[in-house]
Amino acid sequence: MNPHAEHVNSWYAASAEGPITFDALSGNSEADVCIVGAGYTGLSSAIHLAKRGYRVVVLEANRVGWGASGRNGGHVGTGQRADQDSLEKWVGTDTALALWQLGLDAVDLVCELISNHDIECELGVGNLHMAAKPRHARELADEVNHLTEAYGYSQASYLNREALAEQTSAQGMHGGMLDLGARHLHPLKYARGLARAASELGVTIFEQSSVIKWRDGANIVIETDNGSVKARKLVLACNGYLGKLAPAIAGNIMPINNFVIATEPLSSAQQQAVTKNNYSLSDSLFVINYWKLSGDGRLLFGGGENYTSRFPADIKAFVRPYMLKIYPELADVKIDYGWGGTLGITMNRMPDFGRISANTFYAQGFSGHGVPTATMAGKLLAAAIDGDCENFNLMASVPTHRFPGGTLLRWPGLVAGMLYYSLLDKIG
Ligand SMILES: Cc1cc2nc3c(=O)[nH]c(=O)nc-3n(C[C@H](O)[C@H](O)[C@H](O)COP(=O)(O)OP(=O)(O)OC[C@H]3O[C@@H](n4cnc5c(N)ncnc54)[C@H](O)[C@@H]3O)c2cc1C
Repeated sequence: MNPHAEHVNSWYAASAEGPITFDALSGNSEADVCIVGAGYTGLSSAIHLAKRGYRVVVLEANRVGWGASGRNGGHVGTGQRADQDSLEKWVGTDTALALWQLGLDAVDLVCELISNHDIECELGVGNLHMAAKPRHARELADEVNHLTEAYGYSQASYLNREALAEQTSAQGMHGGMLDLGARHLHPLKYARGLARAASELGVTIFEQSSVIKWRDGANIVIETDNGSVKARKLVLACNGYLGKLAPAIAGNIMPINNFVIATEPLSSAQQQAVTKNNYSLSDSLFVINYWKLSGDGRLLFGGGENYTSRFPADIKAFVRPYMLKIYPELADVKIDYGWGGTLGITMNRMPDFGRISANTFYAQGFSGHGVPTATMAGKLLAAAIDGDCENFNLMASVPTHRFPGGTLLRWPGLVAGMLYYSLLDKIG
């Protein structure tokens, strides 16, 4: 029996044309840098290392984009996952400004890779982030003012209820922030495009090659189920799927599951009602709802999460009520696909960048903001390996804290915390 999984049955897998596949590693190989994991972090690292002249081998346990990178909501948000107010308190205004700029650069980097490597991935413009509670509307209005005044950001504007109603028929929203600097895309097409680009730059990608163990040192040896790679540097890019591969960093993140459904194609009137200008949309709840239209007019709606090792038995039925609360008019629309994915989150939602040793680097814990940030992580990992550590160290300098209880006992505390905050979503 083949122990390696194919893509989940998602609308993304069904619509990303012509799967590109790569052989499994068999026997011994050598590289300057070995990367474990072929999501955005691993693939972007590979591209940027190859551009700097390194010989790179990528080892992926399943398929390119099999993890969160091939299953996510496709929102490419600006800034960092934590808001600027919090960042200013944690790291001071100068560093918060540098982080904000790096967040904008990350969106530009996604667009640049797409354009430079001719990646067709349904790139769209704009996100409308909406207040699900009256208090959140005031906070969003303040945030727009702050971004405009303190950061000189001109792409965000505040929409009151009336202005919102012109953009979307979403129910229960009290105002919103329209961010025209944000983008959205088809995540698996983007991941596969990155893999093709890496391969064209000379990177060797092996799929269906699970790393079982690795030995650190001047010459790192990375063993898969059917071969090994000897390398001078190692990048761990496994995020929520890290498992037991690197206990030293596993306790920095918590794997959680999030779920998405795809409706049948909507009529053009329904599409216009959901999002008149084809923006991606999201709300301000702790367990965030996020949605957008697909290239063929389906509603791709993400909502609900769980903190166990199992997905709900019926994901379509699990997510559908979140969608109907916001768009009750879609009650008769058929749900064609439902799938879930696992992402790594950190305590304060800022990503965890670092080194395990002089030669082993990692970036993980993008906390739901990984489309831009994991892509940027790849660029910063490549630069750091090449001796240019400035922005890698900037990201690594933001404290994220280990989960209390480390790898063994992080669950009970996290689950209690998450349930507490998701309960707050339900009250006023
Ligand atoms: C349902 C869902 C919705 C999301 N929505 C958004 C969104 O709209 N916008 C946004 O910015 N972010 C979103 N995210 C988060 C985003 O998808 C992730 O942050 C990002 O994809 C992380 O990329 P990555 O390369 O670090 O990890 P992944 O894409 O998870 O890749 C890790 C890879 O490592 C491989 N791997 C693990 N262990 C081994 C091993 N031992 N040997 C070999 N390979 C191994 C896995 O098979 C996997 O392919 C969402 C995530 C989920 C799950």
